[in-house]
Amino acid sequence: MSRRRISIFGVTGSIGANTVSVIETLGADTFEVVAVSGNSNIAGLAKAARRLRAEVAVTADEGRLDELRAALAGSGIAAAAGTNALVEAASRPVDWVMSAIVGAAGLAPTLAAARTGATIALANKECLVAAGPVFMAEMRRSGATLLPVDSEHNAIFQLTCAERDCPIERLILTASGGPFLDRSLDEMAGVTVAQAVAHPNWSMGARISIDSATMFNKALEMIEARHLFSVTPAQIEVVVHPQSIIHSMVGFRDGSILAHLGPPDMRVAIGHALCWPERPELPVERLDFAALGRLDFQAPDPERFPALDLARVAMSRGGVSACVMNGSREVALDAFIAGQIGFLDMAALVGEAMERLDGLPEATDLDDIFAVDAQARRVGLELVKRFAA
Ligand code: NAD
Ligand code: MG
Repeated sequence: MSRRRISIFGVTGSIGANTVSVIETLGADTFEVVAVSGNSNIAGLAKAARRLRAEVAVTADEGRLDELRAALAGSGIAAAAGTNALVEAASRPVDWVMSAIVGAAGLAPTLAAARTGATIALANKECLVAAGPVFMAEMRRSGATLLPVDSEHNAIFQLTCAERDCPIERLILTASGGPFLDRSLDEMAGVTVAQAVAHPNWSMGARISIDSATMFNKALEMIEARHLFSVTPAQIEVVVHPQSIIHSMVGFRDGSILAHLGPPDMRVAIGHALCWPERPELPVERLDFAALGRLDFQAPDPERFPALDLARVAMSRGGVSACVMNGSREVALDAFIAGQIGFLDMAALVGEAMERLDGLPEATDLDDIFAVDAQARRVGLELVKRFAA
């Protein structure tokens, strides 16, 4: 593989740390790192920038520039701060970009990167959920290549690469079911943040871990899949597979189903998206099927995991409904983490926000998306007060 110039947005997060690990495994002559970004963890950002010998480190937090400069002193690495600086850094020409900021905050820098024509390794699923049609139109216009990093979508991408000319009949997204798969509704009502963060198989950031516990993560992934693979909502299925060994499946019209299997380790999907169309050699666990013994499957329970139905509602309504779902979900998640609302309140709140903001006009550009996102967050905050009372 020839040397790739790469920028990493969200380098201080869980995907970011795994990306640093893959880059270090593959060796300094494989990648030349241009920009790295973080938010409040200035020490972690400076450390990653030094390890990767980046040209510039950017914190999204405008007020932390001096602190970042001090942390980078003597390294020769430039420091920048604020959301404009983030977009400016994303506009620098590179070959590859890892988009691993969490939440709708990843949208503007990812689009800026896409406009340069860089290949986008996309971990930030919120881009596609909040702004799917606008985002995909921008991708087509800029000619940027989009490579999914989310493990399910990376799995499907790998499967469809092998079957490029065969129409997809169904996509089967696997879901671990999270830590509360076997809990009753009553038990789920009282779970704590620490319990919700403790994912049984994957080690991930706190927010996506809680989204896995509510299955909002899978709800987002249904919408993500719809945009990435141009399928209809009816073609997208979800099955609970507690071992997280099968990362997703694709069904074809002859009844064949291809599955992607591997260890539940994000370095596989990250390495694939960074090295595509080659495969890197990675020091991850090799599956031992005799030791695994069995793989289990079950249907998700719509009563205990209503987020999945909310994704179906958002997809059938179309327009900005998924953007409303995402913005209100981010607010509900903040409120749960802050101890203001209960675990089950998150889906109830999002459902209500989606009802209140049903029928908003279609978004034609990013400004429309940001306006709807802001509106969803406002309604979300109002509902938090009510749910917290
Ligand atoms: P994380 O919380 O561990 O890290 C998030 C990163 O985003 C950090 O670098 C943080 O500094 C940055 N960030 C946070 N708020 C920001 C803001 N307002 N502006 C700019 N930067 C900000 O999250 P993660 O688990 O690494 O997930 C990152 C993205 O990848 C999410 O969209 C998530 O859904 C997706 N994803 C993660 C995993 C995983 O294994 N962690 C798997 C699949 C998809
Ligand atoms: Mg996933």
